[in-house]
Amino acid sequence: MKMNNRYLVGAYIRLSKEDKNLNNKDSESIKNQKEIIRKYIEENNYKLIEEFVDDGYTGSNFNRPGFIRMIEKIKNKEINMVIVKDLSRLGRNNIETNEYIDRFFPKYKVRFISILDNVDTEIDSIGNEMIPFKVLMNEYYNRITSKSIRASLKSKKQNGLFLGWKAPFGYKKDKKDKNRIVIDKKAANIVKEIYRLRENGYSTIEIKNILDDKKIPTPSVYSNMKNKTLKWSQFTINEILKNETYIGNLIQGKRKKIFGLKSEIKNPKENWIIVNNTHKPIVSKETFNYVNSIKKKITNKCSNFYLLKKMMRCKECGYSIGVIKNKKRKQMYTSCTNYQKNSKKCFPHCMNYYKFEEIIIDTIKTILKDNLDNNKYEIIINNGIKRELLLLLIDKIIIDKDKNIEIYFSFKL
Ligand SMILES: [Zn+2]
Repeated sequence: MKMNNRYLVGAYIRLSKEDKNLNNKDSESIKNQKEIIRKYIEENNYKLIEEFVDDGYTGSNFNRPGFIRMIEKIKNKEINMVIVKDLSRLGRNNIETNEYIDRFFPKYKVRFISILDNVDTEIDSIGNEMIPFKVLMNEYYNRITSKSIRASLKSKKQNGLFLGWKAPFGYKKDKKDKNRIVIDKKAANIVKEIYRLRENGYSTIEIKNILDDKKIPTPSVYSNMKNKTLKWSQFTINEILKNETYIGNLIQGKRKKIFGLKSEIKNPKENWIIVNNTHKPIVSKETFNYVNSIKKKITNKCSNFYLLKKMMRCKECGYSIGVIKNKKRKQMYTSCTNYQKNSKKCFPHCMNYYKFEEIIIDTIKTILKDNLDNNKYEIIINNGIKRELLLLLIDKIIIDKDKNIEIYFSFKL
């Protein structure tokens, strides 16, 4: 086949220290990126001018020698096509990455190809339309992973044997080693949900109501104990929110036996035996610290916070859709704010808010799952669907009087 000389290709390859630590699988390695790009160039008979390699450079800015050299060559018209393995190689910074794709490349008539994302700016493709979404998610992903890597590199693993008769809620005893605890996925998800709600500003009583509403089993129900409490208590929720077990620390000696007494008594905190990093955490240290720092700010009065606050609009009148609580404050309902003021002006738009929130979260999860690779998807889901993420993705949610929901995203779909 004849070489296509119309395009002079610059292959851009980047690997950060974080990528090296995160991906043992080598999928991001320089060698692998080169192979994918070379194969692509070969199949399409393009002419490779140069491979620009930035080894050990973060994607959160563009101060990288290889990248800068490539930009120079583009300006000198020595290159008119840029190929990367995937968008995150170009950059993980939302604004600047879009700036290069939307303005700089078109300005210099550079055709841009991101192989694994099916992006090719010369042709119409779904991949092109997903660029803003992918770039957005790359930046978000970068934000949540770099934190956890820094934390995990710092701390070396210490040893601690678990001697309790029953693992803390969220964990179970390791079948192979009874002195270790491992994550019990189902229960761990409940713990995560409690942290997520608190992180998003819900008070203990609100969390209690949500859990009871959704019929989430309490720890005693879950582990089928003799004395079951069917409803969640604020006490249990608070205990979970301040328990360092969930960040991987083993805490023992909370209670002690007194000779001659049948029951145990509380041991003062300074006598607890705490060993750090003995098992897999369920929540990150950042989340734990944050949750415990805001604790005092959240009173058990109405916190007036909810995940989708200010994102919902009324289709009929254009006013915002708010949330109202019924008298006993056991339920939250959506409601057109215009209707609240004057019931003649609009319709109630009344839905069970938590169920509604669940629908939105499920939709977001589906979109993430369909458009991200598994590794990234898992990490983002494990981090929890938080307001920060929803604000990035959702432009607005329109609700009509018949309770039809339209979600407008901040990217094209
Ligand atoms: Zn309305």
